[in-house]
Amino acid sequence: MENLVPAPLTQSLQKQKYHRVGKHSAVKRCKWFYEALTGGRSCYKQKFYGINSHQCIQMSPALFYCTQQCLFCWRAQNGDLQISWDEMKLPDWDPPEEIVQGILKAQNRILSGYKGHLKTDPQKFREAHRPKHVAISLTGEPTLYEPLGELLRTLHARGLTSFLVSNGNLPQKLSALGVEPTQLYISVCAPNKEVFKRVCRPQLPDAWERLNETLAFLPSFRCPTVIRSTLVKNHNMDDVEGYAKLVAKAEPTYIEAKAYMHVGFSSLRLGFDDMPSHKEVYDFALQLSEKTGYKILDEVADSRVVLLSKRDKPLRFSP
Ligand code: SF4
Ligand code: SF4
Repeated sequence: MENLVPAPLTQSLQKQKYHRVGKHSAVKRCKWFYEALTGGRSCYKQKFYGINSHQCIQMSPALFYCTQQCLFCWRAQNGDLQISWDEMKLPDWDPPEEIVQGILKAQNRILSGYKGHLKTDPQKFREAHRPKHVAISLTGEPTLYEPLGELLRTLHARGLTSFLVSNGNLPQKLSALGVEPTQLYISVCAPNKEVFKRVCRPQLPDAWERLNETLAFLPSFRCPTVIRSTLVKNHNMDDVEGYAKLVAKAEPTYIEAKAYMHVGFSSLRLGFDDMPSHKEVYDFALQLSEKTGYKILDEVADSRVVLLSKRDKPLRFSP
């Protein structure tokens, strides 16, 4: 498998502090993990859903693989840094148990760097040794990982909750998951096919239809579902009506409208000015609220994110 991915790519990821796990998985310290341990601040998912940032593992089981090449994505894509590989040529997959053991070890290694750090909060440091949550969202499309349902089962058997983020290009994989994640995110970052092709740059010719198929069966999930829209100024924020139609089809528990952030490899494809301000995200959310009947429940200005739902308040996974 190593030969499928060029060495300069793996070296570049190492420099960016990706901790490789097995052949195709990785853990990366989330900014909010650091903030929660040393500064007392936490991510918006702690505020919205009670996910403790200092007990969260950010990982991917499909580090190098995706069916889209979104302009706004922070991951390295084929062609970035003049490095080429086939993002759809899949490896022999590592077994779920090996991945889970590997990500727990990697998280421990990351945590060991905080021992003796002057700003580390001792109680949070102790708690962080017992991770409670896994965000399967770091990079790549996780539904490409064949035994994804087994991976979820293995995580849950260890008492971990899971948030799974998918681009919805593989509806048959999502519908056949034997085990649901604790919360399922589908990225909807375009209101119509034309914008989808330009901004999400799908590698499958019928990706828009596939995404729509996923949205159509989203109401059949028992777990809370989220439509997450990463908003890029002057690229995908115009057709609010288009987004509203997709929301009506998917009937998600929540919508998260979130600004594109100019970080990672996305800075090779987009400019600093492509980040909408929090006010612009909020104005978008307000229009979407009017068109869908979803209420604005919460917002975090620092992260430029607004939460909408038909519920009166979000479900929380820990106190
Ligand atoms: S839920 Fe996401 S943003 Fe929050 S700590 Fe985990 S990986 Fe970071
Ligand atoms: S679908 Fe997700 S991982 Fe794939 S390119 Fe888009 S943002 Fe990146």
